[in-house]
Amino acid sequence: MSNTKYVFVTGGVTSSLGKGIIAASLAKLLQERGFSVTIQKLDPYINIDPGTLNPYEHGECYVTDDGAETDLDLGHYERYLNIPTSQANNVTTGRIYQSVINKERKGEFLGKTVQVIPHITDEIKRRIQLLGETGEYDIVITEIGGTVGDIESLPYVESVRQMLWEKGEDNAIVIHLTLIPFLAAAGELKTKPTQHSVKMLMQSGVSPDILVCRTEHEISDDIKRKLALFCNVKKEDVIQSIDAETIYDVPNLMLDQGLDRVVLNKLKLSSKGEPKLKVWNEFLRKHKNPISEVEIALIGKYIELQDSYKSITEAFIHAGSSNETKVNVRWVHSENLTAKNFEKKLKGVHGILVAPGFGDRGIDGKINAVKYARENNIPFFGICLGMQMAVIEFAKNVLGLVDAFSTEMKQDCKNPVINLMESQEDVTEKGGTMRLGAWDCNLMEDSNAHKAYKATKISERHRHRYEFNNDYLDQIELKGMKATGINPATGLVEVVEVPTHPWFVGVQYHPEYKSTVLKPHPLFVDFIKAALKYSTI
Ligand code: GLN
Repeated sequence: MSNTKYVFVTGGVTSSLGKGIIAASLAKLLQERGFSVTIQKLDPYINIDPGTLNPYEHGECYVTDDGAETDLDLGHYERYLNIPTSQANNVTTGRIYQSVINKERKGEFLGKTVQVIPHITDEIKRRIQLLGETGEYDIVITEIGGTVGDIESLPYVESVRQMLWEKGEDNAIVIHLTLIPFLAAAGELKTKPTQHSVKMLMQSGVSPDILVCRTEHEISDDIKRKLALFCNVKKEDVIQSIDAETIYDVPNLMLDQGLDRVVLNKLKLSSKGEPKLKVWNEFLRKHKNPISEVEIALIGKYIELQDSYKSITEAFIHAGSSNETKVNVRWVHSENLTAKNFEKKLKGVHGILVAPGFGDRGIDGKINAVKYARENNIPFFGICLGMQMAVIEFAKNVLGLVDAFSTEMKQDCKNPVINLMESQEDVTEKGGTMRLGAWDCNLMEDSNAHKAYKATKISERHRHRYEFNNDYLDQIELKGMKATGINPATGLVEVVEVPTHPWFVGVQYHPEYKSTVLKPHPLFVDFIKAALKYSTI
């Protein structure tokens, strides 16, 4: 029997209160007190994973080392905790039902009627405890997606109720994150929505142990007392979470409010000292006191929802802090970047990042952006589709292969410099079938990538179906674009560079997924460094 303790985080009143950030901040404090902690997200939607979702729906799809396509909150967990997550850290209703239905088809329920309770709830509880049973973690924090009261959240809340009862109050607790709105006309903070949301939770048999209250204004002792009285908690269990300047302030804010201490008390865990936030705070100091500034154009087709590029913008923050530089992002919609206006739209930037993506919408804009960066010696960073566009642009404009393209956008193109990977040819299903997760890559000595990583062997995460067509490698290299990173097993080109350019790097993988506060990604760090240098000439 493992003696892992469980902390559940539910949300009330409204969505978008930042459960992921609160969970990650608490986890950070506990981790820096010496506990081993992980965080899990349970998503109540019926998709098996967010891999098939349009980024406009829920933002970026985050990918783990083991190739799971997951909710973007897992990105926050990794960025805060600096430890990898896996498929076990993200479970959806679709996945739960799929397991139960597969078991039913195998006859594993021995003729019983299969029902939400106990079969679905048992599967939910099994998934929650999978992480605990590894014996690796003292504490597992499980974030329940959605808002209490949603029909689709009910089986999760019921599973939490059962687990609280099974584990006992010293081993499992509930933090309810809620909103205390400020009514400007009345000049008052209002507790009623929270009272209702706690009441709703209680109707499901779950009584929160701790309330974390999102608010724009300080919550007075009186309000805390009122919340405690109506919501069946002690006054010290009402924790204020005031709007922060940056999400990276939240661990310190929670420390000041004592969230970690309250949690440890309830779980009967003795603290191994105060959280060690020295490195974290050094990151924050540099982030908040930059000595220089750069502007980076981010070219993408989902920019109306900036969460679609969450890991990239967070990686900019990490790399900015490490360079003591403020990174301003100029969001450029690839669809609006035409042959006529691209110079005007990109004028003045110190670096250009062409983002990942799928399909042909906005493709010409991406190619124009690469051209502008390459011809004007502006630091360029192409990620996944961005790297593929760099290869296409080079083939078109330097090799003179005017019809060079990717078979993703033009199946019958004459010069498919990017084409479907062989392993993808027979794939018909969309979900979970890309080349996913961590793969090895060998870097060429003295390349910009090698200089950044200070290593020749690396492993990075992937999410793609198309690849550099090695039939064109010789021609492309002859004209000056080099393949500086290669998968040792398959020969697949992972990194391309133009060595005559100050910093022109395209990567088939997604470095942004591995950038954390404690370990900013080396390519992002060097990209910002190159942009900084460019800004001074
Ligand atoms: N659409 C491209 C591919 O599948 C790139 C994918 C991406 O940018 N993640 O290869």
